Amino acid sequence: MASGEPAPDQDGVSPLASGQDAAASFGSVVGDSGGGMGGSAPAPEMLPVPRASSAGSEVEKLAKSERISEQRAEEEAERIAAEEEAKRPKVVAPAEGSFTSGFGGRWGTTHYGIDIANSKGTPIVSAQDGVVIEAGPASGFGLWVRVQHDDGTITVYGHVNTITASEGEKVKAGDQIATMGNRGFSTGTHLHFEVWNASGKKINPMPWLSARGVDVS
Ligand SMILES: [Zn+2]
Repeated sequence: MASGEPAPDQDGVSPLASGQDAAASFGSVVGDSGGGMGGSAPAPEMLPVPRASSAGSEVEKLAKSERISEQRAEEEAERIAAEEEAKRPKVVAPAEGSFTSGFGGRWGTTHYGIDIANSKGTPIVSAQDGVVIEAGPASGFGLWVRVQHDDGTITVYGHVNTITASEGEKVKAGDQIATMGNRGFSTGTHLHFEVWNASGKKINPMPWLSARGVDVS
């Protein structure tokens, strides 16, 4: 438009008469928006531009209000997600079933975990949020999965039939990581569950669970 020539009427630009109506409307738009075109009254040769700008401004306003409602919907979704996150149990039982053996001395040796028996294929879930640090064969356990938690605690799931999580995977409390089996040194289908504290000491899972609101007995 620097030439000052009216734009050729080839791309939908209106003739001068309706262009003047657009000029009036453009003036008010400038007032509302605080300018953007320099603030001076539009020269006649500018007419095709304000018309486009006025229409563009309406589209912009609509887009802006859509952005606002999208933002509100996002905020609402975030609020609901935060509420659900707060309500979500942070520690859960690693499997459903019958508590069949506790931590401590057994058969002249030490049983370093607890046993929960159920049918083959019963889901085994991560007891707490964490990262799967190992999933595969382990001596005596047949197959095991080990999950490390934020405080350094590691939970161990042994004799599993199938592994359904992968090493390096982030899991939440209750996410399935394996199915119950009878592999390794095992005398019936059950989950052998251990808790290793941050120093690597195998601790009794029962008080660890019960201190976190979970009773598996
Ligand atoms: Zn056991």
